[in-house]
Amino acid sequence: MRWSEFFIRTKREEPAEAEVISHKLMLKAGMVLKVSSGIYTYSPLGLRVIRKVERIVREEMNRAGAIEVLMPVVIPKELWEESGRWNLYGKELLRFKDRGEKWLCLGPTHEEVITDFARREIRSYRDLPKNFYQIHTKFRDEIRPRFGLMRAREFIMKDAYSFDADEKGAERSYEIMYETYTRIFERCGLKMRAVEAETGTIGGKFSHEFMVLADTGEEVILFCEKCSYSANRERAETVEGGLPPVREETSRSPEMVPTPDTKTVEEVSRFLNIPKERIIKSLVYYLDGKPALVLVRGDMEANEAKIKRWVNVNDVRLADEKEIVELTGAEKGFIGPVGSSLRILVDWSVLSVKDGACGANKNDYHFVHVLPGRDFPLKLVGDFRFAVEGDICPKCKKGKLRGTRGIEVGHTFKLGTKYSEPMNAKFLDRDGVEKFMVMGCYGIGIGRTACAAIEQGHDEKGIIFPVSLAPFETVVLPVNAGESEQVSTAERIYRELLDFRVDAIIDDRDERIGVKLNDADLIGIAMKVIVGKKVKEGKVEIKTRDGRINAEVNIGECAEKVSEIKKEMEK
Ligand code: ATP
Ligand code: MG
Repeated sequence: MRWSEFFIRTKREEPAEAEVISHKLMLKAGMVLKVSSGIYTYSPLGLRVIRKVERIVREEMNRAGAIEVLMPVVIPKELWEESGRWNLYGKELLRFKDRGEKWLCLGPTHEEVITDFARREIRSYRDLPKNFYQIHTKFRDEIRPRFGLMRAREFIMKDAYSFDADEKGAERSYEIMYETYTRIFERCGLKMRAVEAETGTIGGKFSHEFMVLADTGEEVILFCEKCSYSANRERAETVEGGLPPVREETSRSPEMVPTPDTKTVEEVSRFLNIPKERIIKSLVYYLDGKPALVLVRGDMEANEAKIKRWVNVNDVRLADEKEIVELTGAEKGFIGPVGSSLRILVDWSVLSVKDGACGANKNDYHFVHVLPGRDFPLKLVGDFRFAVEGDICPKCKKGKLRGTRGIEVGHTFKLGTKYSEPMNAKFLDRDGVEKFMVMGCYGIGIGRTACAAIEQGHDEKGIIFPVSLAPFETVVLPVNAGESEQVSTAERIYRELLDFRVDAIIDDRDERIGVKLNDADLIGIAMKVIVGKKVKEGKVEIKTRDGRINAEVNIGECAEKVSEIKKEMEK
């Protein structure tokens, strides 16, 4: 490619609207242009990076035996009604009517369409297993689109769906994808961690989020300082007895004390002058429509996904103010387990409270000197809260959990028969019996992966892409466009680089070298060949963007050397 013929529009000014570095640098490099909130045009330069991510993903998916398909962006309501998601999906699903008054939606994900494809085209166990994937546009009407391509409304995703004859096969398919994802993100040069994620109603240990470690990540990951355990904040488990007793066991009986207008844990803590760790927080939930009291320690937070899993219900919601008064006789902030007739779920953290305070089910009153087990029953005790830094590792039971931030670039999920059952996707098994196909689904955000690479690789000059994602692998720069020897040498090296299959660009603009270097560094070209005065001695300079290599080579050996460095960097 020749710079003068290509289309690169770098910006001098700092983009004001960008909050994170990847967004800022993508705008500055002129890779994306905002059309509307969360909706972007990829410039020719930005598209090059996107295509490079796609190429790695495609190569590795093919290598894993997955087969590429292409599904429609526009999906009829009927399919989404079959799975039950037309009503469940919420506002991220953009719905509209066509001229015949038929409801349609823009696909935010494609389980329904692929399950429909499979039930019509897969007949027998001989057709299984199969894994279909596509790399295509998705639309989600995100409530807060932000950070450029990181959380867009229209974005490109690789989504794959595996179909197996039984559970065992599905687990194997899952493992293959897990390994494939590891390879993909390695080739993208990313520091990554696969963490256990919440599986919702499916259950089991088969959901992972692939997190790129970055301070700007939206997700909190907890990992063990001693063993390999890592999970996202929602999923991370806590252990029974993981928190030491906060204080000696009280021998006094509960005492009701006035606490006027103190509703929050902070207010109670201040008013009674006791730490949050000695307060028992009581929340009224409806579990599949039935009320229950959930208790967690004052400094902890209740975790609805865990509650769902432990008591095996589908629907968990907090009671509203009116319902709370009806059920407990007191307003929110003054409710508690002592004397309560509600079913009580006690988080393990509460057991560390040996002399606590809780609401008295009477407005403006709390109990003090409360002892769990003595003053309220411990019938249903378990893990109902979010884990925090410092919690004991649930796997090795020795190390403590530490926190770090991450960007979720990929997600793998075992679906079981969640879609095949309601959509009646069956096959004829070896034993002559019709069975539901067992499914898995696997997503990678293509644009988000490019953003994550920038979050991990940048400096004050701009983007430092790994060579595998750089918009160009090498730029050839004649220092003085007026020196014919420099120009002709640069042209020669450029041609030779193409012969070596290096994705090269020659900066043939009539610009000062400073401008050219700045542009090359800003957009993240992985290597530079600088053709300057030393041409007279038969030498040129090779520099890598990551600063690791800065070498002088003979003109005749330059292209080969660049190609070697490239292979070395790809490892
Ligand atoms: P998040 O929790 O970030 O909203 P998600 O759980 O909704 O993600 P999935 O449905 O698992 O995401 O989608 C698969 C992948 O698609 C994600 O891992 C992510 O890389 C990408 N992705 C999801 N939403 C967006 C978005 N709004 N913009 C860009 N990429 C996205
Ligand atoms: Mg989402």
